[in-house]
Amino acid sequence: MTVYNFTAGPAMLPKPVMEQAAEEFFNWGGRGYSVMEVSHRSADFRSLAEESEQDFRDLLGVPAHYKVLFLAGGAQTQFATVPMNLLGDLKCAAYVKTGHWGEKAIIESSRYASMRVVADAKPSGFTTIPEESSWDDYQDAAYLHYVDNETIQGVEFPFIPSSQDVPLVCDMSSNLLSRPFDVEKFGVIYACAQKTLSIAGVTIVCVDEALFDRKPFVQLPNTLNYAIQAEKGSMYNTPPTYPWYLASLVFKWVKSQGGVPEMAHRARQKSQKLYEYIDQEDFYENRVEKSVRSRMNVPFFLPTKELDLMFAAESAKSGLIGLKGHRVVGGARASIYNAMPEEGVDVLIDFMKDFAKRYG
Ligand SMILES: *Cc1c(COP(=O)(O)O)cnc(C)c1O
Repeated sequence: MTVYNFTAGPAMLPKPVMEQAAEEFFNWGGRGYSVMEVSHRSADFRSLAEESEQDFRDLLGVPAHYKVLFLAGGAQTQFATVPMNLLGDLKCAAYVKTGHWGEKAIIESSRYASMRVVADAKPSGFTTIPEESSWDDYQDAAYLHYVDNETIQGVEFPFIPSSQDVPLVCDMSSNLLSRPFDVEKFGVIYACAQKTLSIAGVTIVCVDEALFDRKPFVQLPNTLNYAIQAEKGSMYNTPPTYPWYLASLVFKWVKSQGGVPEMAHRARQKSQKLYEYIDQEDFYENRVEKSVRSRMNVPFFLPTKELDLMFAAESAKSGLIGLKGHRVVGGARASIYNAMPEEGVDVLIDFMKDFAKRYG
């Protein structure tokens, strides 16, 4: 039975990446040892680090005045280290709340910053993104933070906020490398790796070096200090070498497939297919406003909670795993990141049709 893995994260990796990793597990590029068993400061690992950074830069067109860091700690560590790196002499930080992760970022960051939530989609049940023209003023803020794709509610920004002189900080943990965008519009972009980039353990932070002028908090660990890690090539301390290695393979894979524009094309294709089916079938419901529906995470509800549970159990038995909705929203959710082939979505839709016929 072919298994399709719709888990939200840690999520599936592209098959060729898994194959290459398996092949060189004991014998990295013919060297006779594993990439896991070698110093991060060795010439071999350094060349992997440099090449992967270059691949990442090529994929997104990252300008030279941005540093690309490969750090430990996951996205939620960034919730704390963003304010500690960026507040400087400013006290206030601005946040947009469009889902679970934005909300968690606000809670964590408010330990360090005076918080201004300039837009809050919670009253809508996180089914919409408030019009930018309705956001509160934040021109005195150290930065504006938002979450590009809300992994749990399935809400994705169809636009980049025009934050003017305030640096834009964006959590792209669940959609980085799924569409091209202008990096120049951002101060900081960060993403944990376990959704679209690699396995859990490495976090990519892409930061405009102009922000290094801001004095970081004295309490900020050096390991999470952007300027220090930039100067040290992300090797102030030992970076997560194996996740970094897998990220390097994923970048090569994305390149080989036609790059980020091709990923965007596939994401549009896969998600449109699934939403189209959900919308025309009364048995399933997606409550997110059409213009802000995520191309990565597609949550849907069945008529009852019992059916939600049966759906998760039966789909898993048919080889479609990870479809149970997140505990905070319930229902079902299909995560269809770059690594999910279109056949996976086709098989899912066939299963959904059959399930609806049997229980509808
Ligand atoms: C998964 C996820 C997180 C949490 O990442 P951790 O690495 O577990 O801290 C944060 N933000 C978004 C958008 C996510 O999808």
